[in-house]
Formats: sequence, C-alpha cells, structure tokens
Amino acid sequence: MRVSIAKIKANPLSALDFSLTEDVSADSYGYRDFSVSGPLTVSGRLQNSGDGSFSADLSWSGEIVQQCGRCGKPFSTPVEGRAETRFTLADTADADGEDQLWPIREDQADVAEAVLNEIWFRCPMQPLCRPDCRGLCPVCGVDLNQQSCSCGKDDIDPRWEKLKNLKFEH
Ligand SMILES: [Zn+2]
Ligand SMILES: [Zn+2]
Repeated sequence: MRVSIAKIKANPLSALDFSLTEDVSADSYGYRDFSVSGPLTVSGRLQNSGDGSFSADLSWSGEIVQQCGRCGKPFSTPVEGRAETRFTLADTADADGEDQLWPIREDQADVAEAVLNEIWFRCPMQPLCRPDCRGLCPVCGVDLNQQSCSCGKDDIDPRWEKLKNLKFEH
C-alpha cells in the first residue's frame, strides 16, 4: 500500500492527500498475532518537513482476525483509528526506535507498514472472542462455550456425601 511522495519531494511544506483501499497481508509484514480480513482502507496526508522526513497523518478502517486467548477460536474485530507518524528518505530508518521513522523506498511511503504497527500496538495482549469466553477444559480440551464435561467433578458433591453417609447408617 504505497503512496508516491515524488510530487512533494522537492517542495518543503508541500503536502498530499491520499486514500487507498487494498488487501493487505499482515503476515508478509511479520505480524503473526492477527491477520487482516478484507480490504484495509488507509487515508490521510503526507507533508514534506523539509529535512528529508515527511509527517504522516493516517486514518484507517478495516477488520482483523485474531485467535481467542482462551478457546483458540479465530474471531474478527473491526478496527479503526488515527495516528501521526513520520517517514524518512534516510537509510537509517529504525522501525523499532522511539522516534518511529518509517522508510521511504524509491519515493514510495508504505503506509500499510505504519498502520499495521499501530493496529498491532492497539491489540490486547490476550484477545478474547467474547468477554465471558469460558475457554477450553484444561483436562479434556472441550470448548466449554459449546459443551460441558465432567472433568473437575471427581470431588464428591456435598449433597452426595450426605447420601453416602445415610447409606452406611443402615
Ligand atoms: Zn474464546
Ligand atoms: Zn473436561
């Protein structure tokens, strides 16, 4: 999802607006925690800061698929957001640095790279398919949202304990 900065490259403070809707593979950018389902829309503005860097105001909307941290089922969530970031012509762009600078390659700013990072950053550590997901039984592995199992019921129910005692009294 590339935006050409060729038109504003030579003119400090010049800006360009863009809007793109494309299929994006989160996996190809190294993200394993989520995938993008359906097209992602990214729009915004790039402005030449005059020092070889370009400020970016990015808005996005789309849908991602994550795996539930309790039951393991994939589920989709709409994502929407806005962030300001920067792109640079310098080779020294460091995506992991605190002053996040995204590289411009061959006059193209890959806005998906910056947006996927924002989406990832906003994902919960343990995504849940629903807030009250009951997860899987740690013993037999059934999905407790769909069925129940008798694991963990080996401890005698107090009511049965009473009956057992009654029986021995005879
Ligand atoms: Zn779940
Ligand atoms: Zn079980």
